[in-house]
Amino acid sequence: MKRKNLVRYFVLGVFGLAIAAGLTARGKAHQPRPNIILIIVDALRADHLPVYGYHKNTAPFLKELARDAVVFERASSVAPLTAPSMASVFTSTYSFQHHVVSNSYDEDQSDDEEALKKINKLPSGLLTLAEFLKNQGYRTYALSDNANICCEMGFAAGFDRFKMMAYEGAESVVDQLTAWSEEIRGREPYFLYVHFMDPHTRYHQRQPWFQEKRNPYAERVAAYDSEISYVDARLRELFYAFDWQDDDLIIFAADHGEEFKEHGHWGHGKNLYKEALHVPLMFSYPARIHPGRRHAFVSTLDIFPTVCDIIGRPFPPQIAGHSLLPSLMDSDESSPRRPIYAYTRSFKDPFIPVAAVVHDGWKLILDNDTASLLYDLNHDSRERRDVKNDFPALVSAMEKLLQTYRAQCKEYKEEYGLIHPRGDAVKHMRALGYLQ
Ligand SMILES: [Zn+2]
Repeated sequence: MKRKNLVRYFVLGVFGLAIAAGLTARGKAHQPRPNIILIIVDALRADHLPVYGYHKNTAPFLKELARDAVVFERASSVAPLTAPSMASVFTSTYSFQHHVVSNSYDEDQSDDEEALKKINKLPSGLLTLAEFLKNQGYRTYALSDNANICCEMGFAAGFDRFKMMAYEGAESVVDQLTAWSEEIRGREPYFLYVHFMDPHTRYHQRQPWFQEKRNPYAERVAAYDSEISYVDARLRELFYAFDWQDDDLIIFAADHGEEFKEHGHWGHGKNLYKEALHVPLMFSYPARIHPGRRHAFVSTLDIFPTVCDIIGRPFPPQIAGHSLLPSLMDSDESSPRRPIYAYTRSFKDPFIPVAAVVHDGWKLILDNDTASLLYDLNHDSRERRDVKNDFPALVSAMEKLLQTYRAQCKEYKEEYGLIHPRGDAVKHMRALGYLQ
């Protein structure tokens, strides 16, 4: 990383107020079209990063990056599964609006191994972040090491160059991007979306970071942690290769978290507990924002409108998120205050929706298959004690909030793509354990 930290700290100290007023450290007033780099690390739970208080320094590079960034301490994914979550990041709409509700096709629809399968796809009526930026004159690039981010589901829309890999690892991702770097950096502005896959199951025991443990649970977590360190080291290489400067906007996040049996399960996809939804969210843009930590509850749904605001363009009408730019420029006081929603589908029946809402320090999980769960986040941030029986009126009010909100939102027409059951994306999903 060549961002010149010491110089920047000095400048920020002297001219902090001027920056807050919209001027930049370099005197470039109102940089309206920065290069935008969106980095997603798959299945990266926030609380396993030192930036978010983890006891091990699993990610020294991200810790350095965070010094110049706005770090949202309580960011939530929209869904605990890659395709629904990223569909929401790309469109700033919820899964019940865009209908990308699963990673894979429905295996029950045909026994014919040669027949093309239906797969849920982003509706053409929605503008993606890449399409939006392309319309603003950006050149657009995507490299995803998660095969769920595939053309068949509509994720390639708006990208000049789109490449899907099938869990080839962070080293290959950085090698590919380095090969593209001359082209990408040839003309500004550009939008680059990078999706790393490494902390996702199955966890490798990455050297030299992996530390052997006596019990299988601790060993599994140690392997996950070693994957974080591995991708962190590759991120350092990526930043070195691209030499991003203070007026380049870096957005760092995860698509969802990961469960370590806190509520009985490993992995992710079917639960809306904190460990599945709490993700890192950092904006590094030293030329324009006011670094620091923000405590407000925010969502990865807010990335798209924040980008619109940063480049000074009005939001597309579909946007369900809120701009975080006032918070980036100022302090927590400017963070949006509103309910945060998340959605997925039940373990017992994929057609049964599960929804969650966080509001005023309370979290309600509404599982239509079982019952509601209520957590007092101010006293029980890990969501260990269900207190629904103590607060029945609050449960009713939050259930109503979920229903009312959903009724207000526009739902887009469902669309489907076709995917070959022996294609790379399906093989990849099987390898990851999503398909039998
Ligand atoms: Zn994922």
